[in-house]
Amino acid sequence: MAKIFVLAEHRQGIIRDITFEMLTKARELAEKTNAELCAVILGKGIAEHAKALAEYAKTVITIDDPKLENFNSEAYKKILTKLIAEHKPSLVMLGHTSYGVELAPRLATALNTPLATDCIDIAFEGDTLAVTRQMYGGKVNVKATLRKAETYMVTVRQATFTPKKPEPPANGQIITVPSPLTEEITEKRFLQYVLPPPGGVDITAAEKLVGIGRGIKDQANMPLMEDLAKTLGAVLACSRPIVDKGWLPNDRQVGSSGKTVKPKLYLALGISGAFQHVLGMKSSDLIIAVNKDPKAPIFSFADYGVVEDLFKIVPSLKNKINEVKAQKT
Ligand SMILES: Cc1cc2nc3c(=O)[nH]c(=O)nc-3n(C[C@H](O)[C@H](O)[C@H](O)COP(=O)(O)OP(=O)(O)OC[C@H]3O[C@@H](n4cnc5c(N)ncnc54)[C@H](O)[C@@H]3O)c2cc1C
Repeated sequence: MAKIFVLAEHRQGIIRDITFEMLTKARELAEKTNAELCAVILGKGIAEHAKALAEYAKTVITIDDPKLENFNSEAYKKILTKLIAEHKPSLVMLGHTSYGVELAPRLATALNTPLATDCIDIAFEGDTLAVTRQMYGGKVNVKATLRKAETYMVTVRQATFTPKKPEPPANGQIITVPSPLTEEITEKRFLQYVLPPPGGVDITAAEKLVGIGRGIKDQANMPLMEDLAKTLGAVLACSRPIVDKGWLPNDRQVGSSGKTVKPKLYLALGISGAFQHVLGMKSSDLIIAVNKDPKAPIFSFADYGVVEDLFKIVPSLKNKINEVKAQKT
């Protein structure tokens, strides 16, 4: 039976969301092509991770080795080259993350396998693989068919597929493979994780975001926006002009040259909806936009839209939230 490999990504004891996003898409592909879905995880002390993955995949291949405590593309390449050559999966999926971007080209070169990067859709068409990628900052979607091969490799854009646990869970078989690493990897060494500065915020992890754009007009209005975000239990994110003006640091920028986010709620205030911005937030579960221009493109992506001056909406919204909170206590 053909296999589809998904390389699980984990960092500091946590499996990253991209893993479950890929497993969900891979399950759909495996069902369509009658392939076996196989999660592959490399690391140190990863038994619990393997159990979590077994809820999604038919097979979980684990390689547990102290030398794999931290990601190392050379070590991963050595192990995966061997595994892929043995199992000959029809498809190998990696996240289009800092790990995947470093590893995938090395792996594809070692295996002489066609590789498509940053994919937003993947489909088998007969025995060839078709992928969809975005070009020109998201203006154009390009569908490409890869040259015929036994194994295809793709990196998958984050927050593209919505993770969904199979019902009932897959109850997959966990297979522990001895580590083929015989010596320390010396080509590259892990030094340390550099965490965001204290007080730094990871907008990709926030459940609720208040996205602010040029429509807020003046830096003097920032406290009003911060206040609303706080009342809502949300984090402030923004469009590029806000970063250009220095009102928020660049790790708060959403879009093609910023971060891709997928919160439960994205409240867009005074953001026009340029495609470079939309690219980074269109997969949010619920999008509410406030803009005084009824023709603003953001309304094409919003679940709810308010055509109004945001300076009228923000104070009344804040009051209403406080009112509801007071009723609950
Ligand atoms: C290579 C490249 C990469 C880029 N990357 C990114 C990126 O990653 N992220 C990003 O965001 N942009 C990016 N941009 C910039 C992008 O093209 C837009 O210029 C930008 O997103 C516009 O930001 P905005 O919506 O805040 O401002 P504007 O487009 O100026 O929109 C402001 C909106 O506020 C509304 N408004 C004004 N006053 C009020 C009010 N009182 N009440 C309600 N609404 C009001 C207006 O109607 C308008 O729709 C990139 C551009 C390039 C060329």
